[in-house]
Order: sequence, then structure tokens, then C-alpha cells
Amino acid sequence: MPAIASDALVLRAFNLGETSKVVVLLTRERGKVRAVAKGARGARSRYQSALEPLSEVRVSLHGRQGAELFRLGACELLRSAFPASGRGLDVALALSYFAELLDAFAQEGEAEDAVYRLATAVVRAAEEGTDIVVLTRYIEAWLLRLHGIYPPLDRCAACARALPAGPLRYHGSAHGFICEACGPASGPVIPEAARAFIGELFHRPPAALRTPAPGEAGPLEAFHHDLIGRHLERDLRSYRVMNDVARGLRP
Ligand SMILES: [Zn+2]
Repeated sequence: MPAIASDALVLRAFNLGETSKVVVLLTRERGKVRAVAKGARGARSRYQSALEPLSEVRVSLHGRQGAELFRLGACELLRSAFPASGRGLDVALALSYFAELLDAFAQEGEAEDAVYRLATAVVRAAEEGTDIVVLTRYIEAWLLRLHGIYPPLDRCAACARALPAGPLRYHGSAHGFICEACGPASGPVIPEAARAFIGELFHRPPAALRTPAPGEAGPLEAFHHDLIGRHLERDLRSYRVMNDVARGLRP
């Protein structure tokens, strides 16, 4: 009897000794777990491409309940992430970022069904051709919201009165958007068009998102990055790589 049988997304895998790998999984049943995949480095490994980041798999995990490290038994590939990452370098780099982001936000052993559904929906939308920059802002926004970090868009964080239409003014020490009456905001200011776009991110499934104008999604990049950085208290390597490459590719 396996300790856990669950659908899972592969977040990353690293080498262990000469022949094995440790795989970090986001399981539907048990949140983030680590498992040893014995023999995964061999040419005749039974796992083959099932351990690629963001592949969707069905696994059985063996070991003591509450153990820090399980042993990976069966690992059936349900959906490879390869068709999505094969769409181009920008998509492949963004998917690396999504995997690192999910890894950083997920707690070991704590099931979060909404996060699991978010992750699988985003990978599928990437495969189907949804704009990758929009998907990046989407997964950031939802991970922040599901962990209680995205500030409410309709209430002043200081006085709780309804925020008027127009730009949103973020105030760092209030951890949210504040109204004019509550004084000057530390920034940033989210323009009205970007505010409307945040609304779309929270009300549409990822595959139904449209490609926004630069003024709609652009201001959210630094804003999300700042919220994520303050929550995780570190920078993600994949984010830096993705941005460096994007800058180099642009004329
Ligand atoms: Zn106020």
C-alpha cells in the first residue's frame, strides 16, 4: 500500500548519487512533497520524461506518514509539459519561472487544491497558445491572492471605505491601496487601465484571457514582483533569467 496516491505536478528534480534523483512534487492530495526516484538517471529509467518540470503525473509514494522524504513508486505521465515549452524560448523560460514560483509558495505537506487547479490550468493554457506574458501576470496574481497577499481592489486598506474609480494608489505601510482622504501613498500607482486588467485576471479562466495593451499589463510586472519579493524575502533565479533573456531579445 502506498502512503500517498495522487495526481501531481513535477516542480523540479535534482540528482542524488550516481543513479537516482530527488523529485519535488506538487501533489493534489498532500501539497508539496519530496521523493527519491531510484534509478531515475539510468538510460533505461522507467520514469523517462515523466520527471520534467510541470509535467502532470499520477504517482504512488511510499514511506512513513509524515516522513520528509518519500520513495517514488509508480509515476504515470498524464500530460507532458513539453508541447507548451516547445512553443518557444520565452514560453520555456516562463514555465521555469512558474515552477520555481509554485515551489516557493507551496508549503510541504499542505494540500492546496486551488493552487493545484491554478497550476494545471496555466500549463494547459500555455500549451494552447495563450499569451505567455498574460499567463505570467495571471499566475502571479492568483498565487498572491490565494495566499492572502494581493491587496483588495475595492476597499481602502487604511479606512475600509470603498475606493473610487480611477487609478489605485498603493501604500507600503498599509499593505494595500488607500483613498485620497487617507493621505499620500508611497506608490506605486496602478493606472486605471491596469486596474481594469487586474479585474479581468481575477474573473476569467486563463485560456479566455486576451492579449492586453502594454499600458494594461505593463504596470503590473513591477508591482507583482515587489509583492512576491516581500513575501518570499528573496529573488527567484528563473525570474532574473527570463527578464535578462527578454531584454536581450528585444531590439
Ligand atoms: Zn481611506
